[in-house]
Amino acid sequence: MSSLNGRKRARATSTEPEDVKPSLPVFERHASLWYDDGNVIVIAEDLGFRIHRGVLSRESTGLAAALAEPPGEPDIDDCRVLRMSDSAKDVDTVLEALYGLKGGFSQSRQVPVATVSAYVRLGVKYDIPRIREEGASLIRACYPNSFQAFAVLVDDDLDLRAIAWSVEQECEIALLILQHEELLRDALPLALYGCAIQLPSVLTEKMAGLSHVPASSLWDLLARIHVGRHELLQSRRDFTFSFLSQKPATSLNCAKPVACSAVLTDMARNHFRQFPEEYDNIADALEDADNTIQEHSAKACKSCVQYWRDTHQAGRRKVWDTLADHFDLGEDKPDEGAPGEPAGP
Ligand SMILES: [Zn+2]
Repeated sequence: MSSLNGRKRARATSTEPEDVKPSLPVFERHASLWYDDGNVIVIAEDLGFRIHRGVLSRESTGLAAALAEPPGEPDIDDCRVLRMSDSAKDVDTVLEALYGLKGGFSQSRQVPVATVSAYVRLGVKYDIPRIREEGASLIRACYPNSFQAFAVLVDDDLDLRAIAWSVEQECEIALLILQHEELLRDALPLALYGCAIQLPSVLTEKMAGLSHVPASSLWDLLARIHVGRHELLQSRRDFTFSFLSQKPATSLNCAKPVACSAVLTDMARNHFRQFPEEYDNIADALEDADNTIQEHSAKACKSCVQYWRDTHQAGRRKVWDTLADHFDLGEDKPDEGAPGEPAGP
């Protein structure tokens, strides 16, 4: 084995016992993860990684256990062969992270959802704490469980997001969280919310494109999203934008009731008028309309502007606090067989 970086075909050809099955492992060497001093060849699909048993055993109890088993096939160049059932891309992603390639963890500006997904799935499957926690922390960064963190997030540019964003990726993350609820439960309400505020036709089209996801999981997600969407639409009216219809409409200390009432009417009409063009916002019950209220502040009295802003922000907060309830996630599922504990506040 001489070439370190060539993607050459490696084939076990040397003297093998005669009873060895004829299908010798054929694989492509990984361009970077092929070390001359490696003592394990990990093969996923048709990609081989010549790496180190000590590294795998240190990082992963699952892989340590697999390596402790009797080998399933002959060594290649004195390297133990470990064949994995995962995709080459997933294994590549995880091993590159473990070996600190491509800048290692959290160095890149924005991580693709496929990377996060591989971290969580393989991190859980093989018990690789560093990988699993990296995936979880990237998800928590984008789907925080505090209102303050969420507020900072919505003010940020999408380009600054830890995980690259698109509608189908919002679905993929939600599905990933649903499959690993024990690890990522805190992130679930906001992930479902992210799906629920999308235009339904776009959402379902993107979901249909997730061909690797079982249909039952898609239906489960779709049902949760639709229940939540319905409730969020009402919450938007009853809490977030209740200042548009509340009684009294203007502050008790209003300095110019006629002008302030006119401003409110104007805002209410504009608020509704945006939906034909931006229908996908219709369930966005966490929308921050503070700037919109501010834009109308010149024509209204200070007291009313403050009254509307306070009502609006209190409404958003209320939606945030009940977000899990919208998706029927309000109470923790009791553990099987464990005595029920009173639900938290
Ligand atoms: Zn007023």
